[in-house]
Amino acid sequence: MERSLSEKEIKESYEMIQSYYDKYLKRYGVKLPRLKGTKEFTKDALVLIYLAQGYPKTRSVTKGELTEFIRSFYPSTNDVQQAMHLGAQKGWFIVAGGRDNRDVDLQRGEYQLITLEKPYPAFHGHRVEETDIWESLKEQYGYRCVTCGSEEGKPNIHYPNTITKLQKSHKDPNRPLTPGNIIPQCQKCNRADRNNWVYNETGRVIKLANPIVIKRSDKEIRWKVYRLLYKEFEGRNPLK
Ligand SMILES: [Zn+2]
Repeated sequence: MERSLSEKEIKESYEMIQSYYDKYLKRYGVKLPRLKGTKEFTKDALVLIYLAQGYPKTRSVTKGELTEFIRSFYPSTNDVQQAMHLGAQKGWFIVAGGRDNRDVDLQRGEYQLITLEKPYPAFHGHRVEETDIWESLKEQYGYRCVTCGSEEGKPNIHYPNTITKLQKSHKDPNRPLTPGNIIPQCQKCNRADRNNWVYNETGRVIKLANPIVIKRSDKEIRWKVYRLLYKEFEGRNPLK
């Protein structure tokens, strides 16, 4: 199973990881290993790169396989601990078999990189900061649903039998639920149907997130949309 990677593949993988890191992980205090030490690639970077092969379709990798891979750079290596440390201590979402593998089915001694868009769930920096961000966001909104105005802990404005519980919801459902894309909505407003729309920070719908809405619209509107797009795309046949 073990495969070697060329220097070019290693550098490209590292750049890919770094771009996810900058976008999603840096703000949580996840630690990006340096690609190179004094002259060789660092073991941490090599392990991370190996686990990230094929991302986002990663696979489980055994400790033996990782050790083999690292040995092609550091021949005296006999026990690779890096995968474990990259997860729990440095914040990368890498799970180990036999322990914290709620996300995937892994055997003991196997590791898998789950995502580069979220830190390791038990990562300390992550939990504190994420709770803080959510609390201060709710505070900014006066602890009210951005869409209907129901207040947290009080009866919902439209459904008096329901006690309002604010939930993190997407501004743009096609983007990840990360700071900048979160608005507080009550459980009544945060329903599946809302994913058809993109909201702004004041909870107003600003555009479509799902073209299915067009199909539901009146024929007159559909005709207007058709004309608009026909013009924009200069009558191009979408099936070609
Ligand atoms: Zn609401």
